[in-house]
Amino acid sequence: MKNIMFIAPPAAGKGTQAELVVKKYKVPHISTGDILREISKEDSELGQYVFETLASGKLVKDEITYQLIEERLARDDCKNGYIIDGFPRNIEQAIEYDKILKKLGYDIGNVILINIDEKTLEKRITGRRICENCKAIYNINDPASAPKEEAICDSCGGKLYQRNDDNLESFQTRYQMYKEKTEPIIDHYRQMNVITEVDGNDSIENVFKKIDAIISE
Ligand SMILES: [Zn+2]
Repeated sequence: MKNIMFIAPPAAGKGTQAELVVKKYKVPHISTGDILREISKEDSELGQYVFETLASGKLVKDEITYQLIEERLARDDCKNGYIIDGFPRNIEQAIEYDKILKKLGYDIGNVILINIDEKTLEKRITGRRICENCKAIYNINDPASAPKEEAICDSCGGKLYQRNDDNLESFQTRYQMYKEKTEPIIDHYRQMNVITEVDGNDSIENVFKKIDAIISE
């Protein structure tokens, strides 16, 4: 299988789609967050540095992130394809990622851009409700996943609540950040001719069908 990178705005269902690909194709899901958390448990100078940096809420130095990603991708389980997640986050990192791939003799593979209207994302985020008892997730803006009664869980009768950051302001901040940092990455991959766009304004199953078609080509 070719390597896969997803690019998508917040709440576009990127994580869910990545899980579906992992399940079907049994490829490793490489996430920078996981790599850093793993290293932070190690009893070494590097482990200590990463642990302290994460604990203080700061960002790990780029050079260290690059080195760790390269080491992770060099492992055997990545040689037949992987999904990379949470990286690159800006154009500098994208350029660095190209260099890492070259060093390892890998191809960039499929860069899949999930396109979704801003309004659809807004509705998804502001409509999301979670059962405080059984954690079931509903969406009051989507008839297909709305609870029968607005604040009560269909399956257990528990109370539904809204997560603190599931509000319009928080979404708009995250969305603006995405546009600003990610558009240059999209242009970069467009020039390399490796991007495939997928319409994400559809059910999880249908979006996955489109992604699956690209992967299995
Ligand atoms: Zn419930």
